[in-house]
Amino acid sequence: MTQALELPAPRADGRPSLSVADASRLARQLFGQEGPAEELPSYADQNFRIGPRVLKVAHVDTDPEALAAQDAAVRRVAAAVPALALPMPVEDAPRRVACQDGRVLHVRLVDWVDGVPLADAAAPGPERHRALGVLAAELRQALERFAHPGAHRTIDWDLLRGAAVVERGLPHIGDPALRRLVEEETDRVARSAGPLLPSLPTGVVHNDLNDHNVLVAGPGATRIVGLLDFGDLVHTVRVAEPIIAATYALLDAPDPVGVLASVLEGYRSLVPLSDVELECMLPLVRLRLCVSVAQAARTTAERGGGDAYLDVSQGGVRRTLAALALVDDGRALARLEPRDRPRGRVTPPPSGAIREARARTAGPALSLAYTAPLHIVRGRGARLYDHSGRAYLDCVNNVAHVGHEHPRVVAALAEQAALLNTNTRYLHELLPRYGERLLERFGPPFEVCWLVCSGSEANELALRMARAATGGRNVVVLDGAYHGNTSALVEMSPYKYKGPGGFARPAWVQEAPLPDPFRGRFRDPNTAADRYLEETAAALDRARTAPGGLAAFFAEAMPSCGGQVVPPAGWLARAFDAARAAGGVAVADEVQVGFGRVGSHWWGFEAEGAVPDIVTLGKPIGNGHPLGAVVTTRAVAEAFSNGMEYFNTFGGNPVSCAVGLAVLDVLEDEGLRAHAAQVGDALLGRLRPLAERVGGQARGRGLFLGLELTRDGRSPDPERAARVVETLVERDGILLSTDGPDHNVLKIKPPLVFSHADAARLVEALERALEHDP
Ligand code: PMP
Repeated sequence: MTQALELPAPRADGRPSLSVADASRLARQLFGQEGPAEELPSYADQNFRIGPRVLKVAHVDTDPEALAAQDAAVRRVAAAVPALALPMPVEDAPRRVACQDGRVLHVRLVDWVDGVPLADAAAPGPERHRALGVLAAELRQALERFAHPGAHRTIDWDLLRGAAVVERGLPHIGDPALRRLVEEETDRVARSAGPLLPSLPTGVVHNDLNDHNVLVAGPGATRIVGLLDFGDLVHTVRVAEPIIAATYALLDAPDPVGVLASVLEGYRSLVPLSDVELECMLPLVRLRLCVSVAQAARTTAERGGGDAYLDVSQGGVRRTLAALALVDDGRALARLEPRDRPRGRVTPPPSGAIREARARTAGPALSLAYTAPLHIVRGRGARLYDHSGRAYLDCVNNVAHVGHEHPRVVAALAEQAALLNTNTRYLHELLPRYGERLLERFGPPFEVCWLVCSGSEANELALRMARAATGGRNVVVLDGAYHGNTSALVEMSPYKYKGPGGFARPAWVQEAPLPDPFRGRFRDPNTAADRYLEETAAALDRARTAPGGLAAFFAEAMPSCGGQVVPPAGWLARAFDAARAAGGVAVADEVQVGFGRVGSHWWGFEAEGAVPDIVTLGKPIGNGHPLGAVVTTRAVAEAFSNGMEYFNTFGGNPVSCAVGLAVLDVLEDEGLRAHAAQVGDALLGRLRPLAERVGGQARGRGLFLGLELTRDGRSPDPERAARVVETLVERDGILLSTDGPDHNVLKIKPPLVFSHADAARLVEALERALEHDP
């Protein structure tokens, strides 16, 4: 029933516009409530204190179902946490009252809650932060099985909508530095927590444990006695409760991660948190701050700008967001974990025992990285974690391309593995589906792809195809190249046969010089491409005229093991043409540089304007799952089909195809190629001046970078490079390694989810290691 009680029409924006006298009259007429009346601050609704009660007049657009959900939730919490004073509704359902313009307002009378808001209470400390965590956990327990259709609604304060809300508010943020910060931090959250959000438990949450809504008994008290305002109640991720509580508590705190840790400690005293929930905590605090900035900017703009009140309240949000931008996710996570927690899934055996058993069972040819080998038990994003929980920023693993243990890739693998995994001699839709998706990423002339299990298998198959297509036997490779671990590939990898345990170059292999314009044979930028091309052509000619004849020229668009080299512009395209002119096929080894790592393009050879006949793929293609591929032209594929079957027991199995598809999905959906371009550019921009100052060179494209260290600008300094690698792992928890024929190039090729903040941390650590205490 709707009552007409002569109320003024709401404002244009839908906010009710009752006077205190109107409210007083309404309380009496509707509820028989008498008492001194006073208006309380509220943004979209109107609230009036009437004696021991509060008259709540909702914004005209409020969905009555949402109000019903709020009232039901208050009653549920009151029953579960009797010690907590709450705004209990006096009646079962809101009253409907028509205004003079005919629009309907929903009016409720609730209990006034005594207490001092945290915002007005004395200096906070860990005890109060733990109490906040306990409150968040009590709410979770109280609302564990609470369901209400009115809680399923779209509101801007739903953390799951955070990214969209930020995007809408961004154009209104006037200060360009603040806008960039909000944009970068939101992007960082999308990459770190974004993939994890779908697996977080959901339920109904109060969703606004801010310091005006949480009440303590007195100004110095710690015990929480009351809770107000269920107006943001929504069905969303349950972690929203402790995250929002912590976000307000840590504003301007000297140690924001410490505050978050205390809130979570309190929370965990009642409700356990899963690994994934814990991982999302700091990223979602960042997101909440970004949402706050974006919403304030939009509100200010809508009101015509210049809202001094908003600016004051936003100061802490902005300062805290800037402070948290400098916090490393991995290190923070280590502080948030329970102190007594066994690390990893199961408690691993001691590292020393593993090392001994490994040496005994695997033989000494298997090497370990770093003087003090790492015992890594789990990974996520651009981070690896050791058995003690220490986080390492991974700047070198180009296999975990879309981030270590990406949940979508892991889920695709697990789902398909649970259904079927078998060889390619049965019809299965995933093989052609993956083939089509992969070939979409190549233009003409590429029409065919074969799936194998590693980069080595891909190059091995490419060699066989090249031989079948040309009738030749010999190959030309670049000095310093590595193409794989099979007998044939080791024989055509100068990186191996010229190294320890090596042997003389076989007669079927010819070397062209490494096209290195920094320390290579030709350095004049005006002529280097031509000189290197002459040398490549000469090697092709030697292979063509030697017994067996030319089959193939293998090259990476940017030689990786050769030292993260960027060849002079124009060399690769002309070298591939020269290989064809000499009767061979051109093979682009994209095992390291492919799949968007170079940022500007999907493939390294594209960035060079070169067109190979065969492309080999590995490492990133399966994000850690053993997968490889050979992509080629129809002509080459047909020449290879000479009657002998190509069978590869594991190559192209449904699980591998599912993984390959998931990797492509993530690359595309998360825009990782463009991200690699942005972060890589910024990183190279900071590495270049550093390299100049320390007498070296920084180079590369996207997130395929190298920092070459020399003694005097020319002679290699492998000792210093090795020292930097050791210092960074020990002191900074940053993983790097060296490459190049002289082992003096620091290679930087992290998972593509590497953030701007990660890049800044790497540069600072390198500056310290190379300049401040070299
Ligand atoms: N080609 C290049 C350029 C590589 O770097 C590697 C591995 N380091 C391979 C091929 C061989 O790949 P896999 O180890 O997967 O066999």
